[in-house]
Amino acid sequence: MSFESQQQRVPAFVAGSPRSVAVVGAGMVGLSTAWFLQEAGVHVTVYERQHVGAGASWGNAGWLTPGLTAPLPEPAVLRYGLRAVLSPRSPVYLPLRADPGLLRFISSFVAHSTARRWRRGMAAYVPLNERALEAFDVLAAGGVTAPTSRPDTFLACFARKRDAWGLLAELHQIREAGQDVRFHAVEGWRTRALEPALTDRVGAAIRIYGQRYLDPPQFVRALADAVRARGGDIVEGADVTELRPRPDGVLLGHGAGDKRQHDAVVVATGALLGQLAARFGVRRPVQAGRGYSFSVPAEQLPAGPLYFAKQRVACTPLGGRLRVAGMMEFRRPDDPLDPRRVTAIVDAVRPFLAGVNLDDRLEEWVGSRPCTPDGLPLVGVTACPRVFVAGGHGMWGITLGPITGQLMAQAVLKGEAPRDLAPFDPLR
Ligand SMILES: Cc1cc2nc3c(=O)[nH]c(=O)nc-3n(C[C@H](O)[C@H](O)[C@H](O)COP(=O)(O)OP(=O)(O)OC[C@H]3O[C@@H](n4cnc5c(N)ncnc54)[C@H](O)[C@@H]3O)c2cc1C
Repeated sequence: MSFESQQQRVPAFVAGSPRSVAVVGAGMVGLSTAWFLQEAGVHVTVYERQHVGAGASWGNAGWLTPGLTAPLPEPAVLRYGLRAVLSPRSPVYLPLRADPGLLRFISSFVAHSTARRWRRGMAAYVPLNERALEAFDVLAAGGVTAPTSRPDTFLACFARKRDAWGLLAELHQIREAGQDVRFHAVEGWRTRALEPALTDRVGAAIRIYGQRYLDPPQFVRALADAVRARGGDIVEGADVTELRPRPDGVLLGHGAGDKRQHDAVVVATGALLGQLAARFGVRRPVQAGRGYSFSVPAEQLPAGPLYFAKQRVACTPLGGRLRVAGMMEFRRPDDPLDPRRVTAIVDAVRPFLAGVNLDDRLEEWVGSRPCTPDGLPLVGVTACPRVFVAGGHGMWGITLGPITGQLMAQAVLKGEAPRDLAPFDPLR
């Protein structure tokens, strides 16, 4: 029986009452939510089926780029995607034998890929984007020790000037939507002067200002350490399989039959969000948009992130090596890593990088972006007033993790979502 059919029997959540909250999922979103709940004196227990950062929050590019954070479905992505999806070498890959769930996701994604819906989605993102970096500063001030870097150069690179037009147009649209983003176009020769790790095949670039980046494994570890240091519990190896609302709490069951009751539960399980959330009225699917990354040595590391926008590859200097990340592969989250995708990323960026040994790869990784068909996350209360969800941020869950956690904590404490979360209502 779904929760909705029995919800009359569950009493309304009493605002301000939660003392013990469970968070399911120890990724950027779950850990940030736990941390901000602790700010209000709540005891948190984080349940994680594998280990801290086992999901998408580990091998991603680490960009904190509110200036680029926008809904994924839009007319240009669609035109580009439809041309590219069927080739294993293309940066977007859709298997020929898609299951019915994936087909439903794709058809809904296509329906949302209009300019009008993009503008509406963008307007919803703006208030979150504006506060996204500030939320990292709150974490830092509160004792999360991993730094965020503020690079001088953040360069989107293109082979030809006209290849840059698409991103320039998108940046203008983001600005028209009310987002503060500063950028300017750079000639090819100037680009190489700015960044010696680029070859003369880079014919144009866009320099974007005011963005940051971090080292994802380092940051997620530091966030988990901070949650523990403030008295929270993180239970690793706990695959949560059951959430049962009761009159005075939610009974949470995991693994070998262990059960414990909490006043409220936040489901932050990334690409697997639907597994626990669907029975609480969350119907919007969350589909794994799998991405790949690896790290390589460089004679001279770039001074900041590099974005090969046409190839959809992100490069970030991390821990003395260059992390190279890309690809959008619509497959099941637990499918094995496909080496052809790594090769496709290498081939895509090889012409543009100088002094970078793309064949000396370490840490080859695949992880699942939690993608929704309308490109907006699912953040707020479900049909059960004690069960909340926070996830579905797609390409931008690192940038938006802390601000999501901050707003989510307010939602849990008050029993209703703050205004800025209204467009992300998980029951929409
Ligand atoms: C290649 C790549 C590059 C990216 N680059 C960027 C970037 O530069 N900037 C940016 O902002 N975003 C980026 N992203 C997106 C970002 O990584 C994700 O949006 C973000 O990590 C999602 O965080 P999350 O906490 O929602 O999910 P996850 O990090 O996936 O965490 C969910 C956790 O829940 C656990 N879990 C699942 N089910 C259960 C269960 N039943 N019980 C217990 N635990 C469970 C999982 O093991 C996992 O640890 C990138 C993604 C990829 C793949």
